[in-house]
Amino acid sequence: MPTYEYECQRCHERVEAVQSFSDPALSVHENCGGELKKVFSPVGIAFKGTGFYKTDSRSSGSSSE
Ligand SMILES: [Zn+2]
Repeated sequence: MPTYEYECQRCHERVEAVQSFSDPALSVHENCGGELKKVFSPVGIAFKGTGFYKTDSRSSGSSSE
């Protein structure tokens, strides 16, 4: 089952939830009652994104030369 990560909009605590695709998304942080928002950036993909960003900044630097 996939693991979803949520961030509380009130206390900004990150909550991980293991849910199946048919389960409803969490919307309320049980600890404080704040609104939970799904985080769509797993750690593995965030690493890839950093690499792309590096390549992009390098090409823009050579054009200013
Ligand atoms: Zn909270």
